[in-house]
Amino acid sequence: MKRHYGDLKPGTRVLLGPGPSDADPRVLRAMVTPVVGHLDPDFLATMDEVQELLRYVYQTENELTFTVPGTGMAGMETCLANLVEPGDRVVVCINGAFGLRMAEIAGRYGAEVVRVEGTWGQVINPAKVKEALAQGQTKLVAIVHVETSTGVIQPIEEIADLAHEHGALLLADTVTSLGGTEVAIDRWGIDASYSGSQKCLGCPPGLSPITFGPRAVAALENRKTPVTSWYFDLSLLRRYWSSERFYHHTAPISLVYAMREALRLVYEEGLEERFRRHREAGEALQTGLQEMGLKLFAQEGHRAPMLTTVLIPEGIDDLKVRRRLLDEYSVEIGGGLGEMKGRLWRIGLMGHSCQRRNVALFLAALQRILQEEGFRG
Ligand SMILES: *Cc1c(COP(=O)(O)O)cnc(C)c1O
Repeated sequence: MKRHYGDLKPGTRVLLGPGPSDADPRVLRAMVTPVVGHLDPDFLATMDEVQELLRYVYQTENELTFTVPGTGMAGMETCLANLVEPGDRVVVCINGAFGLRMAEIAGRYGAEVVRVEGTWGQVINPAKVKEALAQGQTKLVAIVHVETSTGVIQPIEEIADLAHEHGALLLADTVTSLGGTEVAIDRWGIDASYSGSQKCLGCPPGLSPITFGPRAVAALENRKTPVTSWYFDLSLLRRYWSSERFYHHTAPISLVYAMREALRLVYEEGLEERFRRHREAGEALQTGLQEMGLKLFAQEGHRAPMLTTVLIPEGIDDLKVRRRLLDEYSVEIGGGLGEMKGRLWRIGLMGHSCQRRNVALFLAALQRILQEEGFRG
């Protein structure tokens, strides 16, 4: 007897976790566009459009702006692999799980890692970065824009200025922020950044947009040692994304189609309108949670609109509530990460998931479940 493998039929979810977010049906349709070769002139034109649209969302003129195959972590790895050489002093700002990962990866590429630690749930104090910069010649300052483990949005400009005053580059993780709130690469002086397809850009996971400005490109070109990773070596990748069209890897064609469509949606909506949509939905969610008697985790005034963190009330079973949301309402949210595991919920309103009706659905569902679980707010 041959074993029967049934059709794929995952539940129809409303994705309100820390990513992936729901993809607009237009993005999913783009993925069934026939696959052509990765050097087909029609595909090359698509790549050019993806670059143009990425420059629009990143608000940059940077030539070196394209997608790297792989998820957000591939972007993190790419940026650090290319900007760090053994022995470089790298200041990493850590106030959450993703800052920790940057420190870990920089260390693996041979950096002398200097940690600027901040409290989880609070922003990084620029004075601490300044202090770290004053203590030694630094190659790179790395910081997370929206720390998805805590829900904090970090002001970047002042820290970018400090880095430059000390002759260092600024690397910003914009995985959760890009497409949901302003990321002004050129105006803020961010030298290098990476993002992810599946958060506020509203595309399935698998691509990581990156951008390198003139100073970061100079650092890349002036390396004394080749980049240790061949696959993520930007000096090779940029030759595929430039007019040379050097074969480096077979582009994930269907994902690039999806990215183009997701970016086209951002462009049609307009950045200002898109940011306003995220801001208003985030505020409605945060107000609703507080009205229910729950406590938000992230520092007031620095709460990210697209990722809200709320403390799990005493006596309430984290897993049981999340399981009930999924089983009874088909709503996915995230639990805590790293040192916040079991202590908070993370609710994402990203990209196509960021809709007022999802806020209403989630608040009503949570209120009902919490009441039934014995919470008295
Ligand atoms: C999600 C996320 C990443 C990692 O992205 P993956 O797509 O999971 O690899 C990195 N940084 C931040 C801030 C994130 O939110």
